[in-house]
Amino acid sequence: MNLEDCIRLDRLDDLSGMRQEFQIPDHVIYLDGNSLGPLPHIVRERVQNTVINEWGKDLITSWNHHDWINLPMTVGEKISKLIGAAPGQVICADSVSVNLFKVLASALALRADRHVILSTHDNFPTDLYMAQGLSTLKDNRCQLETVEPENLFEALTESVAVLMLTEVDFRTGQRWNMREVNTAAHKAGALVIWDLSHSAGAIPVYLDDTEADFAVGCGYKYLNGGPGAPAFVYVAHQHQQVEQPLAGWMGHANPFDFSRDYEPAADIRRFSSGTPGIIGLSALDAAMDLWLNIDTESVQRKSVSLARVMKERLSEDKVFSEISLIGPGPGPEGGSQIAFQHEHAYAIVQALIERGVIGDFRTPDIIRFGLCPLFLSHVDIFQAMDVLAEVLPNGIYREKRFQTRSFVT
Ligand SMILES: *Cc1c(COP(=O)(O)O)cnc(C)c1O
Repeated sequence: MNLEDCIRLDRLDDLSGMRQEFQIPDHVIYLDGNSLGPLPHIVRERVQNTVINEWGKDLITSWNHHDWINLPMTVGEKISKLIGAAPGQVICADSVSVNLFKVLASALALRADRHVILSTHDNFPTDLYMAQGLSTLKDNRCQLETVEPENLFEALTESVAVLMLTEVDFRTGQRWNMREVNTAAHKAGALVIWDLSHSAGAIPVYLDDTEADFAVGCGYKYLNGGPGAPAFVYVAHQHQQVEQPLAGWMGHANPFDFSRDYEPAADIRRFSSGTPGIIGLSALDAAMDLWLNIDTESVQRKSVSLARVMKERLSEDKVFSEISLIGPGPGPEGGSQIAFQHEHAYAIVQALIERGVIGDFRTPDIIRFGLCPLFLSHVDIFQAMDVLAEVLPNGIYREKRFQTRSFVT
């Protein structure tokens, strides 16, 4: 694989036009869109408009005039198309963590005779924490059990009420077969909650078709909604009559009746709680318009193609023998990221960042690169590998300034 091959691949790439939609600083190769998507130009304009005109000039009338009140549903519908959900099942609200709390409680209510929330040891910590927190509530008899991924199917016993999994592992990029898991869980009488934080906008997802029950996901990673963007929650139509415990006025059937008793909205709105953050939601709404003409199958094809550049460089050049690939990489068994192990992973990532190649480190020893197909080219990947080839053999990363860890890694 040489630079000319990459230039040719970029010429054939039907997503190559999307890069100009983003503000990416010169001399930066951004391999971290899976942690914080870069800023789309359309988002910058939209946020300005929301602040200056809608809030600044139209004030409170904007709730009706600019339809702020329906924005959680509007954005939810746009996200639905990326995750294989028919209309009326997705709402945009709160964080992934808070949404997990709601759907965990709902799923447990639907399986009142069972008490176990089953997950994996390696699930994203906040997912496990939310289940732990829920189990401490008074009179709540639920209990979190975690297993190694390879033991998951045998752990689906009669006491399991709900299986909670992250479809694509945030460290290794390993991906579950959603259809196989949903079928096995249902056969065992359990419901399934999927965390799509590393799936939405990264790979094709078919929630309805695979008969998923609930899902949550992140707005600030592959969806490019901005730091701390609101998350989303999917509840399959057949479960929408269940109540969720974070009953707030925005989930009420008639919030402006100001009635004393809670009466949940008849539809997915009952999964909202308080007033949505309109500035953040506007940003995500605008970012979702970038996906209007993009199908997720072509996104995945491009991830695979970008990963191929990386993998070929890896096998062709001995300088890379120090790092080892972990996980499957993009494809039917992986997400849109690639990960390597090295005992000095943290320092290597810092040395790369200093040279304009931004990836991230995940404890204890993982170098992780997000191969986001909307704004990365094959040439970017080729050049990033050049930089890695420069950093590795000379032990540059051993310099002291690359060793001190910041709070956020
Ligand atoms: C990023 C991420 C989250 C984020 O949760 P928040 O509550 O929105 O901060 C949750 N789960 C997974 C798997 C993630 O990757």
